[in-house]
Amino acid sequence: MSHFSYEPTATEQKWQKRWKEAGVYTAHLQTAKKPFYSMVMFPYPSGDKLHVGHWYNFAPADSYARFKRMQGYDVFSPMGFDAFGLPAENYAIKTGVHPDESITQNVATMVEQLSRIGCMYDWSRMVNTSKPEYYRWTQWLFLQMHKHGLAYKKKGDVNWCESCQTVLANEQAQDGTCERCGTNIVKKPLEQWYWRTTDYAQQLLDGLEGLDWPEKTKTMQRNWIGRSEGVNFREKVKDMDISFEVYDSIPQTFLAQTFTIIAPEHPLLPELVKGTKYEKDVLDFVENIKARKMAEKFEIEKDMEGIFTGRYVENPFGTGDLPIWVCSYVLADYGTGIVNCSAHDERDFAFAKKFGIPLKIALLPEDEALAEKVRNLEVHYLADDGILQSPEPAKGMKWKDARSTVIDYIEKQQLGRRTVNYRLRDWLVSRQRYWGAPIPIVYDPEGNAHPIPEEHLPWKLPTDVEFKPTGKSPLTDSKEFLERTERIFGKGWRPEFDTMDTFVCSSFYYLRYLADANGGLIDPEIEKKWLPVSMYIGGPEHACMHLIYARFVMMALKDFGHVSHSEPFKKLVHQGLITNQGAKMSKSKGNVVSPDSFVDRHGADVFRMYLMFMGPFTDGGDWSDTGIKGIDRFVQRLARLYETKLNMDATATEVLHVGMQKVIKKVGEDIERLQFNTALSTIMEFLNAAEGEPHLDAVTAQTLALVLSPLAPHFAEELWERSGGKGFACVQPWPTYDASKLVASTITIAVQVNGKLRGQMDVAAETPEADIVAAAKLLENVAKYLAAEPKKQIYVKGKLVSFVV
Ligand SMILES: [Zn+2]
Repeated sequence: MSHFSYEPTATEQKWQKRWKEAGVYTAHLQTAKKPFYSMVMFPYPSGDKLHVGHWYNFAPADSYARFKRMQGYDVFSPMGFDAFGLPAENYAIKTGVHPDESITQNVATMVEQLSRIGCMYDWSRMVNTSKPEYYRWTQWLFLQMHKHGLAYKKKGDVNWCESCQTVLANEQAQDGTCERCGTNIVKKPLEQWYWRTTDYAQQLLDGLEGLDWPEKTKTMQRNWIGRSEGVNFREKVKDMDISFEVYDSIPQTFLAQTFTIIAPEHPLLPELVKGTKYEKDVLDFVENIKARKMAEKFEIEKDMEGIFTGRYVENPFGTGDLPIWVCSYVLADYGTGIVNCSAHDERDFAFAKKFGIPLKIALLPEDEALAEKVRNLEVHYLADDGILQSPEPAKGMKWKDARSTVIDYIEKQQLGRRTVNYRLRDWLVSRQRYWGAPIPIVYDPEGNAHPIPEEHLPWKLPTDVEFKPTGKSPLTDSKEFLERTERIFGKGWRPEFDTMDTFVCSSFYYLRYLADANGGLIDPEIEKKWLPVSMYIGGPEHACMHLIYARFVMMALKDFGHVSHSEPFKKLVHQGLITNQGAKMSKSKGNVVSPDSFVDRHGADVFRMYLMFMGPFTDGGDWSDTGIKGIDRFVQRLARLYETKLNMDATATEVLHVGMQKVIKKVGEDIERLQFNTALSTIMEFLNAAEGEPHLDAVTAQTLALVLSPLAPHFAEELWERSGGKGFACVQPWPTYDASKLVASTITIAVQVNGKLRGQMDVAAETPEADIVAAAKLLENVAKYLAAEPKKQIYVKGKLVSFVV
């Protein structure tokens, strides 16, 4: 008896070569009838090899794309590289190798590694965001934003990362730390370029309703956009002819307000103190704060400073005038830069305590011991179920229920008006680093900004530059850059030295995969047909960065008339996390699994199947070096089945025929839900049964190769060929099943609680008793009668589960 052993490396290379030669992955964008746009979040081309996290994103996504193709869709599955950014620049600083050189090398390596996975990428449409042919569009996008009034330059306190030596957008400085390196952010007053994401705040919020995205991600975006319905109070400074508006996002407690704070940079401040005995102290204080911010010695979240201005806001509520304090943590660009404060805000409470400002209470807990502490101003208190003490119409109501009542009251008393505010800020897009797309702006000798005409795009990144970050853009050093600007625009003109946030590059790459052969951004017919992306798979860490920016850019481009859709990604899925013996993989812990040695030994198919078998795709799983051997054995057993039992003249036995109908149905349904692990176990069960049969007929053998094809594409081609299949397995239609054969294998189980029928369910006939009883307990209508563990449970085989409580 010959002993067939599957040789993964040789087999996989053979099929990759054949697929390539036949051009099976080339998308025919124009002629496609059933477009399906399958995308993963493109990687950064780092010098390190593809890690297991990449594989876990890309390989299952490819299995899904392959399944859609077999279902008859015209699948377009592109790949590219998010190639601008700090790692290549930092590497250049260390080694002197120019980023363009190292990136080009890394891209070549990664293309080879990615090809090894066997993914169905159409490489003819690859993008690399650091190449001039790509970043001309990044610059074009900036010009579009500028032309339509959505790009502007403004001076203000910005997030500064001392380690990265650059400013960051709010989204990239969440929790007060740098998104890239974790360094604490300081606030620095700088003039920077912004895009008006806030113009789209409501649309970004509304658009979420129609998206098939994880609920958690939508909630994160909703919270980030942070729509709040509050009140704008119109207020007047006592003894002065100055009025302003103050936004209050928690107006329920407005009667507890005892002081007002103003940002140090607020333009009104010098006027408030002018000619008073407070003037010098206040202005010195402001200068000191500004200087500390410039020297990066001020952490806005930690350092709390303040000084009294000597001025008061006239309080129309009859609760006494409010002293105005300058306060370091008020941001000039939040609301109006002036905020009324009460004991019910944690930070304001701490500020008042520090500077001895009187406080008042408008909300009390029900718990009397705690209420006593709150009354004595020992603790800050704000909670959903706190009971309001005032104003009269809301007295006794819970805080969380009183918002509308209080706002109505404020409006009726004409103290203020209902106002919607958003937490979302405009997107700060300029960066003081080298390796990014230059901002296509030039300044005339008077310092006025002018957009660079489109005919000069790409506005090339100069190469004669020192990489060392100094806090100023390295482009400042380039002689060529300055000379180029003067040559084109005239003597005394200078270029914008900042480059763009790399999140700008990735905010529209899904459009550039569909690049227009005629030189436009995207062919309108292609855009209409292929967007939004049908399935987008990538990490959840992008929820409030890339996934907001891309939506904003698409909405803006629609309003400018360049695209017909306003949402880029119709369906979004986040893969889970692969851990190593329960611990998160990280370079510093030295526990990162490198796929290469496993792929060398077992092949890409075994490796990807093992990843998919570890657990539900969206939950992730825990890596084990020995676990992969189980999948290897499964593949070898399958190979042996074809070697020893294949009989081309035989017809299917009853077991094989009926079993295969179930496999087709179950595996198809599982892959559709991205439940690759259960799809695989279904095929494993079938293998167990098939090994006990006298032979494997050609029809069953070919069908089995087809259902395996999305999961183990190379191996499946081999089995398909061995069992007489013509052409490639991966381009065959997904097999259909005979539903009539499945009837007998499904049984209906009635579920009783205390003798009353409470539900029923359909299960596979061979389902073990324990699973049936467990499933019965979970039925909604049964669960509600089972408050505690039932006293008794009876299973009547194939008919009934009965609980006694
Ligand atoms: Zn940083």
